[in-house]
Amino acid sequence: MTASTRHGIHHVTAIAGPAQRNLDFYTRILGLRLVKKTVNFDDPGTYHFYFGDEAGSPGTILTFFPWEYVAAGRLGVGETQETVFRVPEGAIGYWTHRFIEKGVAHDSPARRFGETIVSFRDPDGMRLALIGVPGIESEPAWSGGDVPAQFAMRGFHSVKLLLKDAAPTGAILTDVLGFSEVGREGQIVRYKAGATGIGGIVDIHEAGAFLPGRMGGGSVHHIAFRAADDAEELAMARKLAENHGLQTTEQRDRNYFRSVYFREPGGVLFEIATDAPGFAIDEPVTSLGRSLKLPPAYENRRREIERGLPELA
Ligand code: ZN
Repeated sequence: MTASTRHGIHHVTAIAGPAQRNLDFYTRILGLRLVKKTVNFDDPGTYHFYFGDEAGSPGTILTFFPWEYVAAGRLGVGETQETVFRVPEGAIGYWTHRFIEKGVAHDSPARRFGETIVSFRDPDGMRLALIGVPGIESEPAWSGGDVPAQFAMRGFHSVKLLLKDAAPTGAILTDVLGFSEVGREGQIVRYKAGATGIGGIVDIHEAGAFLPGRMGGGSVHHIAFRAADDAEELAMARKLAENHGLQTTEQRDRNYFRSVYFREPGGVLFEIATDAPGFAIDEPVTSLGRSLKLPPAYENRRREIERGLPELA
C-alpha cells in the first residue's frame, strides 16, 4: 500500500424504476453530471447510468440499473439505509428551497455528528441526504447542469448501513478497506477512511433484531470501495480470505474500473473497485455521457441492444 493510496467509497449502485425519470431527477433536480451511459454488463437489455462530478471521480459516482417495471424495495436490516452527499455548509438553504419548489420529498434539517443533514427521497423512494460541510466551497463542482456551482454537490459524504451489529462489518472496514472507527452517536457507529474527504465515511446504524429488507426499486444494490490498482485490490482480497474467511469473486473488468465482489458479514454486497482507468477511457471528458457506450464484447450487437433499450429524451 503506497502513501498516496486513497481509501473510501468508490461508487454506490442502486436499482431504479423508469430510466427517463431516473435520468431527469439526478441530472436536472440534483445537478449531477451523467458521466456514462452504458448497459448492465450482466444484462445488456438494461441501461447502466453513472452520475458524478465532471470527470466521474471515485467517491462521487452514483450508478443505477433502471428497470421500467421494477417492484419497490423495502428497507430492512442487512442493507444500505442512506446515501449522503456533501454540499457546502452555506448551501443547505438553497437545497431545502429547491426540494420544496421541485416537489422532492424531504425532512426538516437535523444534526448528525455536529453537521446539518437534510434527508430526502428520489422518485423511487431511495433514501438520500445531503450534509453541509464547512470549508468545501472552493472544491471543484460540476456546473454544467441546472444547479449553480456554488451550491452543487461535491461527491459522497457517507453511506449509512442498517445492520444488526456494527462489529463484524467494522472489522472488515478497519482491517481491509482502510477505515478506522472514529465515533459513536446513539445507535450509529462512524468509520472514517483517513484523510479522504470525498466518500470517506461509513456509518453503521445498529438496529439489532429488525426485519430483513427486500431488494427492489429504491434499494442500494452494492457499495464499492476504492483500491488504487490491481495489486492493491488483490492484496485486499487476500486479506479478506486469510483474516476473515471471506472469498471474493474473480476479478471482473468493468471497463472503467476492475472489480471483485463479496458479501460482508452484515449482509451488504461490497465491491472493491480500482481507481484506474476511469471514465475517459472510451470518450473525452468534455463529452462524457452523451452517447451509449458498450463494452467491446457487445459492439457487434449494438443495433439490437439499442432497439431493446427504452428511448430517452
Ligand atoms: Zn459496482
